[in-house]
Amino acid sequence: MSKIANSKLTLLAIVAVAAVAMVTVYMKGHLDGREGKSSGLIGESIAAESPPKVSPVKTRARDFYAPNSEDLGPDEMRLIACGTGMPTARPKQAASCWLLELGNGDKFVFDVGTGSAERIAAMQIPYNYLDKVFLSHLHTDHFGDLDALFVGGALAGRQKPLRVWGPKGDTPERGTKYALDHLFKALTWDLDGRAGITDPRGYQPFEVTEFDYKGVNKIIYQENGVTIRSIPAIHSLDGPVSFIVEWNGLKFVFGGDTYPNKWYAKYAKGADLAIHECFVTVPDMITKFQFTPQSALAVGTQIHTAPEAFGKMMSLVKPRMAVAYHFFKDFDTTGPINDRIRTTYDGPLSLAEDYMVWNITKDDIRVRMAIYDEDVWPPPATEKPQLPDPSLRIPYSKFIVGGKYDMKDVIQPTYDEINKKYGTNEKQD
Ligand SMILES: [Zn+2]
Ligand SMILES: [Zn+2]
Repeated sequence: MSKIANSKLTLLAIVAVAAVAMVTVYMKGHLDGREGKSSGLIGESIAAESPPKVSPVKTRARDFYAPNSEDLGPDEMRLIACGTGMPTARPKQAASCWLLELGNGDKFVFDVGTGSAERIAAMQIPYNYLDKVFLSHLHTDHFGDLDALFVGGALAGRQKPLRVWGPKGDTPERGTKYALDHLFKALTWDLDGRAGITDPRGYQPFEVTEFDYKGVNKIIYQENGVTIRSIPAIHSLDGPVSFIVEWNGLKFVFGGDTYPNKWYAKYAKGADLAIHECFVTVPDMITKFQFTPQSALAVGTQIHTAPEAFGKMMSLVKPRMAVAYHFFKDFDTTGPINDRIRTTYDGPLSLAEDYMVWNITKDDIRVRMAIYDEDVWPPPATEKPQLPDPSLRIPYSKFIVGGKYDMKDVIQPTYDEINKKYGTNEKQD
């Protein structure tokens, strides 16, 4: 995409965000799903009696989040929705993925569903910081992009193994360790081909920490002032869980897929921000997903959480901000989902979509959308790369080498250019 087209798109996105902010202010409504403090200029200008001061040369307050443009306060959490959708990823929504950043420098990825690695990349965070992943369960819409984060992250500067926490199954074969050991094996060709060519540290096997899915509010992680607990969930088979993060007096709850359960009702209580799944309405599953009425009812209300049930759960939990996800969020699905939630819940609510951002402190929860650069490249590595051991390289067979067309004369100038510029002495194979 050309830079001009891209900047036009960005401008359109900014206008769209501003329009949404105006709707929020005028209607005090819930349709846009963002009811955090509206601190943008437009909201203030409507509320103010006299017009705000503007300048032709000074910047004004923004009502969007531009990645890599804001410091995170020492007492602040930033949550970014990197996937809010369903197993069938689509351009507008990747599947479940939530990036939590803490003011102490820690970053956690909760779920890494299909399509979400691209959204993570848009946040421009050095991959060495993205080494901790927590999986709620092993449906692909919750871990389908783990391979992309694993290989792509290592290639772009994660110089350490990827650590993954996930539940055991009711049998070893249904547990996180089994799934990841086999995922690693499935990458044999990919990883063998990188041996001896790139920094090897990020390509080590996953460091998996499995825990009992029946653990009720048991600690599964405790480092650097951060405590993460798990509670069971009721979804599809035994095994799924939800996570509760406590840090610096703030409590964040990430609910994986579940039928409404008593553990969430009890242990999510009083969260500063509580995410819980909220499924597509049953009528929309029948008309838009072409489910039969029987399957729509079973999947939409028994395997998952129906919007009315989501509302009832949040009325029990009473978070400072409730976040609903796991539905295709469109102009014609948002209203019905909101209406059904509002039959059972009248507290603060975000109907999540990809690139929604929450800044959470003890005093404030600010909700915005991120405006990202489609042309983004990987951020710099945080440490110097380790040179690989060329002897580990696996050679081609004689047959394949014999098929090489002689390009040495046209490639040699590039070797000369690079050797001269960087003082190296590299030679063609
Ligand atoms: Zn699931
Ligand atoms: Zn799911």
